[in-house]
Amino acid sequence: MKRTTGQDRSITSTWRPATQAVRGGTMRSEFGETSEALFLTSGYAYDCAGDAAARFAGEQSGMTYSRLQNPTVEMLEHRIALLEGAEACRATATGMAAMTAALLCQLSAGDHVVAGRALFGSCRWLTDTLLPKFGIATTIVDARDAQAFVDATIDKTKLWFFETPANPTMDIVDLKAVCDLARARGVRTVVDNAFATPALQRPMDFGADITAYSATKMMDGQGRVLAGAVCGTEDFILNELLPFTRNTGPTLSAFNAWVVLKGLETLDLRIRRQSENALEVGRFLEKRVPRINHPGLPSHPQHDLALSQMAMTGPIFSFEVDGGRAQAHGLLDALELIDISNNIGDSRSLMTHPASTTHYGVAEEKRLEMGVTEGLLRLNVGLEDPADLIDDLGQALDKVGL
Ligand SMILES: *Cc1c(COP(=O)(O)O)cnc(C)c1O
Repeated sequence: MKRTTGQDRSITSTWRPATQAVRGGTMRSEFGETSEALFLTSGYAYDCAGDAAARFAGEQSGMTYSRLQNPTVEMLEHRIALLEGAEACRATATGMAAMTAALLCQLSAGDHVVAGRALFGSCRWLTDTLLPKFGIATTIVDARDAQAFVDATIDKTKLWFFETPANPTMDIVDLKAVCDLARARGVRTVVDNAFATPALQRPMDFGADITAYSATKMMDGQGRVLAGAVCGTEDFILNELLPFTRNTGPTLSAFNAWVVLKGLETLDLRIRRQSENALEVGRFLEKRVPRINHPGLPSHPQHDLALSQMAMTGPIFSFEVDGGRAQAHGLLDALELIDISNNIGDSRSLMTHPASTTHYGVAEEKRLEMGVTEGLLRLNVGLEDPADLIDDLGQALDKVGL
């Protein structure tokens, strides 16, 4: 197995992101295949018993078992690390496996975490339900306010955990301000960057220590597989994350890694077009609905901040209707092109009612505190012609009297 430019990572690491997305991390077998090979194997054979012993002892490089290493998964890990500008990356079976591993691998009973209020529903379950079960306390703050992290920090605070843009209210966290404040206190930052991906925003450029992904979303981008990834320093990945993931086993399958590798080849193209489409659809909706949360629109209170840390504002936004759940469900039911679906980052346009789906498991008072009202709808804008999406939304809004 050879890398596209031999073993010389000093050449590949100077490539620009769109090039990395197509070629970064590629290893070729003796057949010289252009597309990455799919290694569906659980184990590896050794030339002699001594080699097996040397590999287990870490004295010989090479793979031993696919819970620990796999060539296809490794290509994906290299590619994501190069896109992210991170020293190292490890892939996981899902985004939630990535978030769980990123937190649990470095926390112990007695530690304290400060987390952003507007988090993905299952991430809020981690901070509010799982961590406290193991004696790890969490304080939830409004992550739009950098000072709130400082005010919530105590001696035992080990991590600040947040996402930006945040699901589904599209709150923006000031990456540089928050990461600088954390560094100054010796606290690590863990950023869930699933909404933006490294194609639009690289949290490490602003000082983040660890980024974690649901690669299910824009990285696959075509709604096919579940996958996740954690990026950080080589020291963090090798000495903290790997002991956790190797022994608990949230491993990404080679097949799913291969699908995400293929997805990354078109990430830059897709996310740029979907961001443009989302702006066009957002401009239309802004005239028809009472409230819209779209960081690409000047009406978003953090519009300037979003543009200062993101290349474009992405395919996802939310909006609110005044008629509560009945009107929100009515609008969904009137759609003819856009699917009712809670996934995001797909090349198809999808719309969901967070209060009754993605945030169903979050207690009502917490939902309201997060801005997930009964009239809130979240839209993922795909690669369809935006004029067709606008036609569909227009006829659906007419039907519910908006
Ligand atoms: C989807 C999502 C996750 C969870 O990822 P899965 O791949 O579904 O496990 C975590 N964070 C954010 C922001 C997400 O959108």
